[in-house]
Amino acid sequence: AVRAGEGTRESTTHCPYCALQCATVLSGGHGDVAVRPSPDFPVNQGGLCQKGWTAPAVLGAPDRLLTPLVRGPDGELAPADWDHALDLIANRLAWLDSRHGPDAVAVFGGGGLTNEKAYTLGKFARVALGTSQIDYNGRFCMSSAAAAACEAFGLDRGLPFPVTDLAEADAVLLAGANPAETMPPLMRHLAWADLVVIDPRRTRTAERAALHLQPAPGTDLALALGLLHLAVTEGLADKEYIDARTTGFDAAWQSCVAWWPERVEQVTGVPAHDQRAAVRLLGGARRAYVLTGRGAEQHSKGADTVAAFINLALALGLPGTPGSGFGTLTGQGNGQGGREMGQKTDQLPGYRSLTDPADRAHVASVWGVDPASLPEPGRSAYELLDALGTPTGPKALLVFGSNPVVSAPRAAHITARLNALDLLVVADFVPSETAALADVVLPVAQWAEEEGTMTNLEGRVLRRRRHLRPPPEVRTDLEVLHALAVRLGQPAHRFPTRPRDVFDELRRASAGSRADYSGISYERLDAGEALHWPCPAENAGDDGRGGHPGTPRPFLDRFAHPDGRARFVAVDHRPAAQTPDTAFPLYGTTGRVLAQYQSGAQTRRVPELTAAAPEMVVEIHPDTARRLHLDDGRLAEVTSAHGTVRARVRTTRTLRPDTVFLPFHYPGAARANLITGDALDPRSRMPEFKVSAVRITPTGEG
Ligand code: SF4
Repeated sequence: AVRAGEGTRESTTHCPYCALQCATVLSGGHGDVAVRPSPDFPVNQGGLCQKGWTAPAVLGAPDRLLTPLVRGPDGELAPADWDHALDLIANRLAWLDSRHGPDAVAVFGGGGLTNEKAYTLGKFARVALGTSQIDYNGRFCMSSAAAAACEAFGLDRGLPFPVTDLAEADAVLLAGANPAETMPPLMRHLAWADLVVIDPRRTRTAERAALHLQPAPGTDLALALGLLHLAVTEGLADKEYIDARTTGFDAAWQSCVAWWPERVEQVTGVPAHDQRAAVRLLGGARRAYVLTGRGAEQHSKGADTVAAFINLALALGLPGTPGSGFGTLTGQGNGQGGREMGQKTDQLPGYRSLTDPADRAHVASVWGVDPASLPEPGRSAYELLDALGTPTGPKALLVFGSNPVVSAPRAAHITARLNALDLLVVADFVPSETAALADVVLPVAQWAEEEGTMTNLEGRVLRRRRHLRPPPEVRTDLEVLHALAVRLGQPAHRFPTRPRDVFDELRRASAGSRADYSGISYERLDAGEALHWPCPAENAGDDGRGGHPGTPRPFLDRFAHPDGRARFVAVDHRPAAQTPDTAFPLYGTTGRVLAQYQSGAQTRRVPELTAAAPEMVVEIHPDTARRLHLDDGRLAEVTSAHGTVRARVRTTRTLRPDTVFLPFHYPGAARANLITGDALDPRSRMPEFKVSAVRITPTGEG
């Protein structure tokens, strides 16, 4: 039935999935919501992918969580009322705190949460729980690019330019990014450029490229060093730009001087003539961009790999130059805003540092607490999950907007750690694989049922609008955090439940920071203004209109370091933690398919998407399949030192013969992360999702 006030109006909002945040118009009421693309939003320009078109199906998922669930003495989850569920959680948390201290409780957030939710979650952890143990799934997504961008530019903003700028480019290098499948509407902005794609797979993006470089997994850093070497030796480096806008070139040159094309070919498998062609295409273009994605970033050397691609872009004079640049294609819906708002274990809202006394004092004053009461930084995402239930680790975990049973590396081990907890609480709108392990499950509102803001991959702040009321027994995450905070002794006013009130507080918390939102308001966004942060406080005219216009291109005049210059960072290649050997002779690499999103908790509940990509399929070159007696369509087991995945074989010539590809959207024995390991990037703490050493054997079934 259509709920009161619904079904008669249209709501302009944004897609619930990826960081492109395509604009949509929703119409219809409960059980009958229709979606169409909003034609006047410049990012998607009237386009949507398959996921966006079918997003309303999740609103009415047959197994939608509609009431709190509490695990009973019989071991089963059973419906409970809110007071019982919240009292139980608060009492257990207070008991664990009194017995083991505040770090006995941990919080795990998500890059799909609105800015308001991410902000409140970080505040809840530091103030209501007093724990240092908070991190989020964005650590698995963007952390390597963030670390490299901060070091090079002094600021982590995925794309420091609007995506529409890409349409002016003559050449674009995509390192480990496959937007034709992960965010298809982006491709319209790349339609006129010559693409150079670096990817071990011949993806749909690679099929549209002028040049496809197909390195062995885990060797992108060597390739990037080789491209910088060639840019210099071929006379394509922009000396004037390097002198005027950067520091550190000499050390970066020394780090790549020995990476001759022939040596790079030996390590990566990319022919020297293709390396030359790529550099000439990029260096010879009037306007060019270098963009990275997860393929370059999800490595134990991901931050160094991104740094090497930034070095290449700096040598060619691209970042901060009109019509050119360097950027990272953020993945999750609020991957950008989610990492600015204080979910990261070492950061407070506005990218402020938990170790900087002035930053702590500013945020503490907004929160109305003593700066000394704020905890120090805690564990990064994988390290936090790895410590759960250990003698020195957290005994309880609260999960909001994440499904680590499927999305965390070394999945069997992490599942065991979750099972070792005294208390696991999951807030979600569908019964995810992580919710299935929980002691308490809290049903929360989803995208079309809530107000808030998201920040897309360009740093553009967007309004998410409520089209439907949530089902009667469903609460918003803000209401859940408020109720828990009050039960834990916090004053009610400290945890507002109205997204607009949270946003206004968030503006104050971020004021004066690198990610300054203080000049952005719901009113300005609702009036249709396009506002990219940093956007310092409004300076409205006499008529109350106007204000700071936002900063779509923050590096045009200067970079964010105090001297205004970008930094070359000297890095060198090193092997992945696991490389093929006699026991595990192939590379295993993981990634996405068009019809599924992240852990699949949402998209696996959409009939059209399930029909398009129903089950886990391991892709393998036909020659390798033949040698290993693997038949197309039959079941096989892919095994690494960490575990085994069962999947159906699909032979394809899009892969290197030494590599198998596993999409990571599927549950149970088909979880790709059963084979991934625990090697972490020393700077970003990013796990090495993209390289495992594996063997593959037929099961004789299927
Ligand atoms: Fe949604 Fe991303 Fe697809 Fe756009 S590209 S419709 S934001 S999933």
